[in-house]
Amino acid sequence: MKKLTILGSTGSIGVSTLDIVAAHPDKFEIVALTAGNNLGLLKRQIEQFSPQVVAVVTEESAKKLHEMLSGHKPEILYGVPGMITAASATDASMVVAAIVGSAGLVPAVAAIKAGKDIALANKETLVAAGRLVMDLVEQHGVKLYPVDSEHSAVFQSLQGHKGGNVKRIILTASGGPFLNYPLDKLSRVSVSDALSHPNWSMGQKITIDSATMMNKGLEIIEARWLFDMSPDRIDVVIHPQSIIHSMVEYVDGCVLAQLGVPDMKAPIAYALTYPERVSTGVKPLDLTEINTLSFFKPDLIRFPALKLAYRSLQDGESMPAVMNAANEVAVEAFLSGKIKFTDIVTLIEKTMNLHKPHRLNSLDEVLSADLWSREKTRELLGE
Ligand code: NAD
Ligand code: MG
Repeated sequence: MKKLTILGSTGSIGVSTLDIVAAHPDKFEIVALTAGNNLGLLKRQIEQFSPQVVAVVTEESAKKLHEMLSGHKPEILYGVPGMITAASATDASMVVAAIVGSAGLVPAVAAIKAGKDIALANKETLVAAGRLVMDLVEQHGVKLYPVDSEHSAVFQSLQGHKGGNVKRIILTASGGPFLNYPLDKLSRVSVSDALSHPNWSMGQKITIDSATMMNKGLEIIEARWLFDMSPDRIDVVIHPQSIIHSMVEYVDGCVLAQLGVPDMKAPIAYALTYPERVSTGVKPLDLTEINTLSFFKPDLIRFPALKLAYRSLQDGESMPAVMNAANEVAVEAFLSGKIKFTDIVTLIEKTMNLHKPHRLNSLDEVLSADLWSREKTRELLGE
């Protein structure tokens, strides 16, 4: 029986994780859940999985949740200290990090320091603090399993191989809803156009990131840290069908890939049960039905976010954290109708141009860089 904590249980990844847990009651027990809003869903999750501890963002939500619950009442915590306690102070052996954005960083670090293995969906954690987090993972002897489908594919394609034999990692990208959209009209797309992802159903922030391809940019940085791979050995190829989830090319010319119908339950389950595999309910892959798999080089004029991500790695140290925080602010501004779609990346670049990268020696320094970037980006927005 594996004892699990899920940070961000009401989100897209959190819900899919709980689906797997529900399908395998003999394998998993839920110890703690945390969520932002959506107290109604959290209440139903508490009733179904009886966690000992729950954490929500505000004191008000904690009080409300307490009133909503009648039967089993877990300990209800709130705020960042509550998230930290839920992530670290239980007897869970694994923590699923599925909060969105750099808000997930502090709880994930708390879990690592408490010796919990991590199933990592929250890529922003590695983007903002890759070096620090990987050092902590090593120091505390914990395992870090990727949930992101591309990184799970790479991880699966690396099984049984020595790192030294790898030539490069090839991350696949669907290209999102605007892969073939007229370039001159891109500045006028609506929020709902940008939220219509062709292949994956995900939270709002990552869906917009997929439309700008900043998501792939963040994933390049995530891969850099997870697999200790220099950026010049991480390539991106557009593959609109999202059947090949990523590949590893070896020095002998062999390329290993992982394929499947796009459904996050597969990579989530692999992270939860590695090295075992369990049933997930994912639709079987029928290649004859799909018929064609196609591949293209990404167009950097259409998707300048990719260039920014490589640049942030080249500038190094605090720059990826700054890029990540600027992206979070810009995506929120787009979602609330304050800026145009094409302004997202322009705004991030402006913030990056104002930043002098410096080494990040502690979690506090990461959080300061993140805050600096948010303030600068909001200033540029005229807020
Ligand atoms: P989501 O928006 O659906 O869910 C986010 C969860 O975090 C919710 O439970 C929300 O209540 C909680 N949350 C939000 N802000 C919070 C805060 N300030 N403090 C505490 N909790 C907070 O997001 P998602 O799509 O599930 O994505 C979660 C993470 O997984 C992201 O980092 C995303 O990049 C990554 N990821 C998601 C997918 C996917 O298919 N959804 C795939 C790969 C990676
Ligand atoms: Mg991904």
